[in-house]
Amino acid sequence: RAKKRGRNHVAFFEQAMQLEVEFRLSLEHDLGMAIAGGQMRVHVQTQVDSDGEPAGAELLLRWQHPERGNVSPAQFIPIAEDSGLILPLGAWVLEQGCRTLARLHEAGCRLPLSINVSPKQFRQTGFVDQVHALLARTGAPAAQLIFEVTESLLIDNLDEAIERMNELAALGIRFSIDDFGTGYSSLAYLKRLPLHELKIDKSFVQDMPHDGDDTAIVRMILSMARHLNLHVVAEGVETREQADFLVANGCQLMQGYFYSRPEPIGEWLARLLVPARQET
Ligand code: C2E
Ligand code: MG
Ligand code: MG
Ligand code: MG
Repeated sequence: RAKKRGRNHVAFFEQAMQLEVEFRLSLEHDLGMAIAGGQMRVHVQTQVDSDGEPAGAELLLRWQHPERGNVSPAQFIPIAEDSGLILPLGAWVLEQGCRTLARLHEAGCRLPLSINVSPKQFRQTGFVDQVHALLARTGAPAAQLIFEVTESLLIDNLDEAIERMNELAALGIRFSIDDFGTGYSSLAYLKRLPLHELKIDKSFVQDMPHDGDDTAIVRMILSMARHLNLHVVAEGVETREQADFLVANGCQLMQGYFYSRPEPIGEWLARLLVPARQET
């Protein structure tokens, strides 16, 4: 009987795995047509300084699937990364970001925009030229552009990553390490990279200040960043208590539902540009 149950289990897992594979393949197939089909949107989430004033914003990709509805980036970004579809998707987001930056710049608004750049996108041949051409074509100020990269980018070939980061930094682009603290990498690389900022992962922010370990980690990151002259953004700030703790411990930038949710880029831009227009 045990043997039979074992076989049934195997059959069950095989079936579950088969369904998972089919689901991924179907999403991958649909994702390949999502840009052309007008299903992708860019949302924006404002980042605020310790006074609660807007100090920047992050672009976040959204996929409105015709049958499935909204598909979470947590689900489709890994598929895009594995299949290579992240290249056209990433280029598309970058283009939206640069156009937005150019419009902000025209209106005299100097808010920096952060864009997530995936490892495959960052490593593709000709990436620096592509970014350079995009900046020239859109008139976006590179100095207002921040690339968010993850620690996983640095693992495979650190020297190559540093070289490429330096080339992009020479254009004026700044770098932020996203989800900082969750990756598998040593702290030694921090001083070798042309870094501007660290983003404390929301998993550390969530249970703070009640969880002693998370609180200690957040304090440690803030103090280390201070010594290395790096800016810090705390992500996933949801409560006043978290915000107060972060400000009291010297965190300059905060991002999270407590301040604002990601919203469509058009609405965000319109709200931001209305007061600027009224002044003139
Ligand atoms: P991320 O870059 O770490 O982005 C932050 C995520 O936290 C976003 O999830 C955002 O909506 C969410 N968030 C913001 N504030 C709060 C909060 O107070 N509480 C909680 N629980 N969550 C909050 P989202 O939009 O679902 O994106 C998930 C991930 O997908 C991103 O994590 C990023 O790694 C990836 N992603 C999104 N857009 C892009 C993109 O254009 N390119 C690439 N390569 N990756 C992207
Ligand atoms: Mg990010
Ligand atoms: Mg993050
Ligand atoms: Mg994250």
